Amino acid sequence: MTRLPPSPELAWSEEGVPTAAAFNDVYFSKAGGLAEAEAVFLAGCGLPDAWKCKDRFAIAELGFGTGLNVLAAWRAWKKTRLPHAILHISTIEAFPLAREDAARSLAHFPEVAALATALLERWPVRAYAPQRLWFPEDGFALTVFTGEAETILAGLHGRFDAWFLDGFAPARNQAMWSEAIVRHVGRLSNPGARLATFTVAGAVRRRLESAGFAVEKKPGFGAKRERLEATLKPTLSLAERVAAQRPGLRHAEAASAAQAGEGRSDEQAPDRVQASLYPYAPANPARVAILGAGIAGAACAEALTRRGVEAIVLDAAPTLGDGASGNPAGLVMPRLDRGGGPLAELFLAAYLSAIAAYERLGVFTPCGVEQRADAEGALADLLNDPSLPSDWFAPHANGALHPRAGLVDPQAAIAAMLRGAELQLEAPVTTIERSGDAWILRAPDGRALLKADAVILACGPALKQFAPASFLPITLSRGQIEWGEGTGPPHAITDGAYVAPFNRGILFGATFDRAEDPTAPEPSTKSRARNLEALSHLAPAIAASVHAATLRSRAALRATTPDRAPIVGLLPDAEAWLVQYADLAHGRAITTTAPPPAHRGVYVIGGLGARGLTLAPLLAERLASEICNEPMPLSQAALDAVHPARFLHRSLKRR
Ligand code: SAM
Repeated sequence: MTRLPPSPELAWSEEGVPTAAAFNDVYFSKAGGLAEAEAVFLAGCGLPDAWKCKDRFAIAELGFGTGLNVLAAWRAWKKTRLPHAILHISTIEAFPLAREDAARSLAHFPEVAALATALLERWPVRAYAPQRLWFPEDGFALTVFTGEAETILAGLHGRFDAWFLDGFAPARNQAMWSEAIVRHVGRLSNPGARLATFTVAGAVRRRLESAGFAVEKKPGFGAKRERLEATLKPTLSLAERVAAQRPGLRHAEAASAAQAGEGRSDEQAPDRVQASLYPYAPANPARVAILGAGIAGAACAEALTRRGVEAIVLDAAPTLGDGASGNPAGLVMPRLDRGGGPLAELFLAAYLSAIAAYERLGVFTPCGVEQRADAEGALADLLNDPSLPSDWFAPHANGALHPRAGLVDPQAAIAAMLRGAELQLEAPVTTIERSGDAWILRAPDGRALLKADAVILACGPALKQFAPASFLPITLSRGQIEWGEGTGPPHAITDGAYVAPFNRGILFGATFDRAEDPTAPEPSTKSRARNLEALSHLAPAIAASVHAATLRSRAALRATTPDRAPIVGLLPDAEAWLVQYADLAHGRAITTTAPPPAHRGVYVIGGLGARGLTLAPLLAERLASEICNEPMPLSQAALDAVHPARFLHRSLKRR
């Protein structure tokens, strides 16, 4: 398998309807795609009535295709939603269409022209990375997962209220209608979830029934005689649900498995999103306190305020940008992993999300970044089999060019992200204390500063000072950068060290030194000398042009982790977690079905290292999704790979 998703081969009918050659099937009906979307999928799921009194609604679609179903749902949502309500559509596509082909398809539907333009402007990049596009003015978020439906569904985190099953006809595309897929659909459904599809194939009907759906045939659209509607039976017993999840299990076995707690997450704790050893839980808060006004805290504030949640950001510093986010500029570029896996997904998705976020805020300069070839050949390997299309990642004389990467102005980004939030500076918080369902934040003198329904610890190097987070293996790294007059390249250059065009001069760095003292460091001449030396190695001509007298320096601390991955999620109760899962240390299977112990309502985002600007927007979106009980923008594997509980898990396994 290559690192880029395959493009479909298309043929176009006289009416302008695309057909996928590999499946010999159309993307939508020649009798009218938009009317079909409305009749089969919207009406089939009881929409818009089903969402009319809901403040959150989640649809999942198999087969994103041209995006026409999404536009139909978005249009209906705009007309009928409650103020402040939010619609999520998570859609899956194995063969992503090029923007031009989607545009050509959607051009036939003037009724949705404005929405089509908005979607096409942000059309997902062809890459194996989930991409969430927010349209906050409509309370609408679209998440496109690229890959095989079965694989994506197996790793999806969320619960859905409605399903559009829109793979090509089952006879031409069995992979999209497999028993496993239908079982995942049942598993990922909220009680009473609705489902719609154009096919009435017997196998599909039977699979839906055994996954717990009540299925009904309805008059079809256009030339099709019939279509299907289905509803997840609300009366399904636990035993039936287990049996549906594990076909082949006899009823008695299913009943005893149910008694042992399998499939119980819903019944026991209706708002727990997924059975896992790591805690995940929403807080459904009205007000969230965010500790730390750096890029992580600011991005969380933005993610919450666009959901209508009150966000109060507190920082001990007297001004914004005292920490690592206070640099005059920072590079946003991808960390491309050769090996693939959950962290490759995370870093790729974060990069795409960061560029989109900073472009939207108008705080980004896409100067491009030239990445020099490395000794290990990783870059050459990636260029041979790239994970981004050529307008995002291309060969260049000395290695590779990331034409869309560039420089962000962190201060401007933070200010823009904080626009909808309340900011309290000189507000040091040293303890957080549970009080009923809420948390009280206390100043060093014990004074109560604030009460909130949930707390996000986004305080970088200070994270470990909070008792519940003290188990996190965060270390500090001191970094210094320089800027001043010099003749820069038109784009940034990096080989680990970097130089970028900045303010008609240049900006370069950065040093990495282990630090123990969590107070903000001062710049040093020693670090400047090392930065200059690294620059003369990276770009001798630029180094020679530097006007030493004009140089300015800034030093800050980064929070780093032993596995170089960030830490994001609900904070486990470390002591209780280690007791509950002590069997892991002896290689025994975990039998308890009790939820993983956690400090309910306390979330952490930290350990972003030198990649805070790139990681913050997506990780904040991921936290806000969990906090507000919405579908996640990443796969379960990627979520687990950055979960704070992973360190506890590893410590038990090592014993
Ligand atoms: N809903 C789409 C729209 O509004 O344009 C039309 C979907 S089209 C009928 C079916 C889609 O399923 C195609 O885009 C196709 O590439 C995708 N597909 C086919 N097999 C797939 C698979 N195994 N996993 C994921 N997507 C698949």
